[in-house]
Amino acid sequence: MKRLLLFLAASGLLATATAQKKIPATYNTCKESWNRRTEIITPEVKGYNCYKADLHVHTSYSDGCVNPSGRVMEAWYEGMDILAITDHLESHGGVRKFFKVTAPYNKNKKPTRYVVPGSTKMPKNGIDPGLKVDFNAIHKEAESTNISRGYGMLLIKGCEMARNKEKLGHYNAIFVKDLNSIYAFELKDAFKKVKEQGGLIFHNHPSDVSRYETEWHEDVHNSGLIDGIEVANGYRYYPQMVNRCIERKYFMVGCTDAHGFTAHRYSVNGHFRTHTIIFAKECSEEKVKEALLKRRTLVYSGGDLIGEEKWLSEFINASVECQFVKENSKGDSRTYTFTNLSSYTYHLRRGGAVHVLEPFNTLTISFGKDKKTGRISDPQFRIDNMWCADHQHPTIEFKIDKK
Ligand SMILES: [Zn+2]
Ligand SMILES: [Zn+2]
Repeated sequence: MKRLLLFLAASGLLATATAQKKIPATYNTCKESWNRRTEIITPEVKGYNCYKADLHVHTSYSDGCVNPSGRVMEAWYEGMDILAITDHLESHGGVRKFFKVTAPYNKNKKPTRYVVPGSTKMPKNGIDPGLKVDFNAIHKEAESTNISRGYGMLLIKGCEMARNKEKLGHYNAIFVKDLNSIYAFELKDAFKKVKEQGGLIFHNHPSDVSRYETEWHEDVHNSGLIDGIEVANGYRYYPQMVNRCIERKYFMVGCTDAHGFTAHRYSVNGHFRTHTIIFAKECSEEKVKEALLKRRTLVYSGGDLIGEEKWLSEFINASVECQFVKENSKGDSRTYTFTNLSSYTYHLRRGGAVHVLEPFNTLTISFGKDKKTGRISDPQFRIDNMWCADHQHPTIEFKIDKK
């Protein structure tokens, strides 16, 4: 009897427990980590750290479709250390859209146009000044996301300036203190205002060099107003501009110029987003500016690296550990290992053979006697996915690391 009671009590408890077990209101189908960043691993090069920077992106305030917070999150997820949001100074599509959606409630139909940032005066071209726009607010929004999410990226304040009618080209101003006060009707005057604020200017998506050999271009160059060129814009690379950078002592940058989402353009194609590798002592405004002025940069675009030969050579030598393994018994061949300790892939060419050295992989490669000299060749390759002056690939000799 006692046992029966115990059994009934136990089964009763069980029934209550089953009744109390609730069906969860939510269930995560995938245990994803939404705050995960892709790290782009780079070596220390000649005592400098390598910072990855995108210095040209747009937001929904000009003609992009991502807001400033989204741009910051995207850049952090994709391994950037530095981001410059550079919305168009002269056109504010976002503001125009705002006017469209508010038009039915705007009885006077005024203002109906965007206004030159910071200006309440009528510009010389006679455009109605319309609504005053605080251009610095874009950067405040970006910085607030950067801080609240704990990203700690270096955000650089900048903008893109263009006078399309005059065919002068597009230019990015970075390290600007107050974006509301740099507009000028003449582009050269706007450049001067950027310089007064300690900013730097680089030429965007330049294409054919002959388009930029006018009197105006020579004048802004001779006036010391240009500091760099965007030698790669997205997947577009401008080989002629590498030479121009070397001749004129401009820094080279590579940027996404993102208007849409970066993820659908780069990671789906198996690439990092286009970026500039900046060799600097620390990720501060002062040191990054100094690195740009001293032209310590390389450009990454679509799996290729572009820059001055000396930095390409330093970079690959710091990334790849080369070790001597053995000489064969006949003494006519030597074998080396090449270990890639960076996130970038290198295409090493010797004659007709291309050895693809993937990130965090090792290749063993043997070198026989050179037919001309009769000596065993040094560990030297032409790097097919590196570009230096004259649309050429550099030939790099690897320094042999001691074990
Ligand atoms: Zn542009
Ligand atoms: Zn742009």
